[in-house]
Amino acid sequence: MKNLLIPKLYVDSIFEIDLEKLVDKGIKGLIVDIDNTLVAWDKKTAPAKVIEWFDEIRSHGLDICLVSNNTEDRVVKFTEKIKIYTVHSAKKPTKSPFKKAMSYLETDKTNTAIIGDQIFTDVLGGNRMGIYTILVVPIKSKEFWWTTFVRKFERFVLRKIKKGEN
Ligand SMILES: [Mg+2]
Repeated sequence: MKNLLIPKLYVDSIFEIDLEKLVDKGIKGLIVDIDNTLVAWDKKTAPAKVIEWFDEIRSHGLDICLVSNNTEDRVVKFTEKIKIYTVHSAKKPTKSPFKKAMSYLETDKTNTAIIGDQIFTDVLGGNRMGIYTILVVPIKSKEFWWTTFVRKFERFVLRKIKKGEN
């Protein structure tokens, strides 16, 4: 169980991920969480900086699918100005949203990575699938009480994980 909670890579933000290195590892598709990974959970639309980052990913020959446990409304609004694959109401850490995303990306577990801010959804789900897992520090921690509660457990786990590659 413990290993399933440990990301392969742990970085401060999405912008610190070395895309070149991911390509070298044979990664072809990225599954990316939205809330607190790309933007603060209360930010409605994708900012220019994030859209530029999507372009940078694609310029490396990688494709992206946004996978969020949040509602269809949230995901549709967030992506209304961009063309990108999405899976909403995803129920991470279950496997089905990962499988759906990989079918869009036309990738499999050997060449897919997930980027997210939560150990119990993004990292656990990715590790259960056997894909490469990247944890980022959450953008904003002011959240619903349940998430705050979950964060306390996460901090306990994180104390045992060093930033960088595992
Ligand atoms: Mg998140």
